[in-house]
Amino acid sequence: MNLILLGAPGAGKGTQGKTLSESYSIPQISTGDILRANVRNKTPLGQKAREYMDKGALVPDDVVVNMVVDRIRQDDCLNGFILDGFPRNLNQASVLETTLKGMGKKIDLAIGIDVEKKELVRRLSGRRVCRKCGASYHVIFNPPVNIGMCDKCGSEIYQRDDDKEETIEARLNVYEQETMPLIEFYSAKGLYRSIDGIGPVDKITKAITDAIAEGNDNL
Ligand code: AMP
Repeated sequence: MNLILLGAPGAGKGTQGKTLSESYSIPQISTGDILRANVRNKTPLGQKAREYMDKGALVPDDVVVNMVVDRIRQDDCLNGFILDGFPRNLNQASVLETTLKGMGKKIDLAIGIDVEKKELVRRLSGRRVCRKCGASYHVIFNPPVNIGMCDKCGSEIYQRDDDKEETIEARLNVYEQETMPLIEFYSAKGLYRSIDGIGPVDKITKAITDAIAEGNDNL
């Protein structure tokens, strides 16, 4: 099963992707995480990507597309994968489609996680992330037991540079202008399902797995 998680920054793609990856035993491919690892390790790709990420802009398509295609070609993707944060515009979606076709693969479902803008801003501005395992917290709604320390692995939690107030607005604008057209792109192919992203995390997971099961029944 080759799945895309669509939705604005802060909608919960990362959180849901992690759970789905465990329950279906297929990898979660988060372009944001791969890019951040490159920034952290000061690779040439990371140095190039950083200037865009800091502004809340999209990293150029060629950089991201090559990164994703390399990842999908790895053996652990043979039974499927979950794309989280990719594609982010129509060009990326169409290159993805062509590349998958060349590999005898296709996208089976694009799940859009719906969250209104005010709630996205609230989530992003209070979000804190573990430097090591990537676990996500919120200063008010889901704080760690010990301030500044991850409950899961004990490492430091921090605020992503692009979760600072001035960058959030830019990211949400990019989402509206560049990424939202993908809803129409995948709807036209009969591959799009929208899920309400407000409420308990496990309830949202259940809605997603139901949509996947329904999609499988229709195959
Ligand atoms: P995310 O963690 O998915 O919110 O991504 C963080 C940042 O990484 C984004 O604001 C972009 O600068 C960059 N990024 C992640 N995925 C993509 C993508 N598919 N295309 C271009 N830039 C991306």
